[in-house]
Amino acid sequence: MATTLLRGGHVMTFDADGHEYRDGCVLVVDDRIQFVGACADLPRRPVDRVLDVTGKLVMPGLVNGHSHLSMIFGRTLGPEKRLLEWLDVQMPLMEAFDEEAMYVAQMLGCLENLKNGNTSLVENLFSTHPDGYMPEDAAFQAISDAGIRGTVARAFEGRHFRPSFMETLDQQARRVTDLAHRWHGAGDDRLRLSIGPLLPWCMTEEMYRETRALADDLDLCLHMHVAESPEFNQLIARHFGREIRQVELLHETGCLGPDVQVAAVSDVSQREIELLAETDTRVLLDPPTRLFWGTGFPALKPFLDAGLTCGLATNGPAANCGQDLFESMKYACATAKTAADDPLALSRHRVLRMATSEGARAIDRDHQAGRLEVGMKADLITVDLRQPHLSPTLDIASALVFSAKGTDVREVMVDGKLLIENREALFIDEGALLRQADVIARRCLRDAGLHRYLHQ
Ligand SMILES: [Zn+2]
Repeated sequence: MATTLLRGGHVMTFDADGHEYRDGCVLVVDDRIQFVGACADLPRRPVDRVLDVTGKLVMPGLVNGHSHLSMIFGRTLGPEKRLLEWLDVQMPLMEAFDEEAMYVAQMLGCLENLKNGNTSLVENLFSTHPDGYMPEDAAFQAISDAGIRGTVARAFEGRHFRPSFMETLDQQARRVTDLAHRWHGAGDDRLRLSIGPLLPWCMTEEMYRETRALADDLDLCLHMHVAESPEFNQLIARHFGREIRQVELLHETGCLGPDVQVAAVSDVSQREIELLAETDTRVLLDPPTRLFWGTGFPALKPFLDAGLTCGLATNGPAANCGQDLFESMKYACATAKTAADDPLALSRHRVLRMATSEGARAIDRDHQAGRLEVGMKADLITVDLRQPHLSPTLDIASALVFSAKGTDVREVMVDGKLLIENREALFIDEGALLRQADVIARRCLRDAGLHRYLHQ
């Protein structure tokens, strides 16, 4: 039985009553929290390791509800392109991946997420289907090796997409069933699988219904992009040959519910918000990426008024060039205030819950992560408050949302294992990984014929 005590920090629990402890302690036994509270109340017992976290904040690890780690080698490429043109750069690059490239991309993405304080993530993986290996296996292996709490949300493309990425419903069923049996719930439920369409015009209505049936058969969540922009809704109407919006289409095909996560939501009507609320569908918001594309952002306050469970996301590292959920918190508040013309549209306390406890609920991890409570999995981070840009720290919640950055995270623990200490990765040689990623990314760019991006 391994015991670790974090002692002397300011502890924010994000439990139902929002308990905080100024001189707080968190005792971790194996993979779970056994005590959280004031140090004065800590029962006396021997511990294997004491971490002095004086001057630091201790809080639950952040929950990044939607990313594309497989696109990490495309970071910084095509930042002035429109979204669908940008995909035309990214997809050839991903077609050049082999198993090693996929594994290293995923590992680099896990490391970046952990160093930003994200202890849970959803990797929305879309990939070609090469002979000889399953890209999802490489992703799961990297997530397993890194130690992060991760779901691979496998994307389906049935039509109107780059041919090497497409598959039939039968192929989807066969591959998903195989993956579910080998990975879903592995690592004491640290690893999970979910499925869903990548883009709505890759689907027929039958494909939506069959994908929903497959998820039900295997007890998987659905995870998908929804209504990313007004252009997307126009494309949906054209492809389905009638005036229908995406959330309405999902409702008709049975693809809404508490086990459904809709990501990157931007252009939704009041009726669509009501449908999401009536079905208790979970919403994942990525404001920095919406601003990166310049395609508009959701009003957000109507989501909160409707009682929706909302989590936060960064989206992929190539789509906003980072994985910093502190940035997502700040821009969620900024866009909500702007859209509503109301400084009270989204409070700092609510957005912090969206990044922790509410975010964990949004991705069906609320019994594991997002709160520091006795019996919960020990997924936690420390944030160094003793820095110029966080001083004076008169209001910690405000400092976290509006001043802190992912680089202020010092320690990261998942499942009771310390993965980052004083910003140093303990599970991998970071320098060697960065060198390997650079070599592989350049090789993939050359193989993809994207030489023009090698010399910028
Ligand atoms: Zn996305």
